[in-house]
Amino acid sequence: MAAAKPQMAGAYTPADVSGVRRRRSRYSIRLWSVRNARMLEWFYARFSETLLKLHWFWNLVGYQRAERPVKAVEKLTKQFLFDCRMCGQCALSSTGMSCPMNCPKGLRNGPCGGVRANGHCEVEPDMPCVWVQAWEGSRRMTNGDTILDVQKPVDNSLWNTSSWLRVTAEAAAERDAAKDLAR
Ligand code: SF4
Repeated sequence: MAAAKPQMAGAYTPADVSGVRRRRSRYSIRLWSVRNARMLEWFYARFSETLLKLHWFWNLVGYQRAERPVKAVEKLTKQFLFDCRMCGQCALSSTGMSCPMNCPKGLRNGPCGGVRANGHCEVEPDMPCVWVQAWEGSRRMTNGDTILDVQKPVDNSLWNTSSWLRVTAEAAAERDAAKDLAR
């Protein structure tokens, strides 16, 4: 009887989890989000308007204090729909509702040269390439051409913070500055 081969270092992959700890069962929900990118774009536009209208409330409570509960809701929602990694600088509106942080190479400006012929990832062959999905999702969106905008490098100081609140605070500051100019 042949002796069992010694286990190669690093060859173990925990059940149901990819090499970079992505739950494979989430792929289908991610793909659903991409297929429904237009509806999610519409919904997010309304939702961000509401967050901006509540700027007075966030100010009253304090953005710092609101961060924890809002982040918890954002994490729960976006992890479910997009397998969000909470990078704190959300690009979904410009990436066809496909989270670029799920790219094992962390690419934020399009795919690498290794996309497989079936549209899957070079590093994780069973995962559809997030950038192929991003392009397909963007074609369904009203403002999908923003996928052509160059994304800034990831700011690592923003990890695990609420993108929703940051975008709201920035939009409120812009709105107030425009009002001051108009006076
Ligand atoms: S881009 Fe960042 S915040 Fe947006 S879904 Fe991906 S990890 Fe989450």
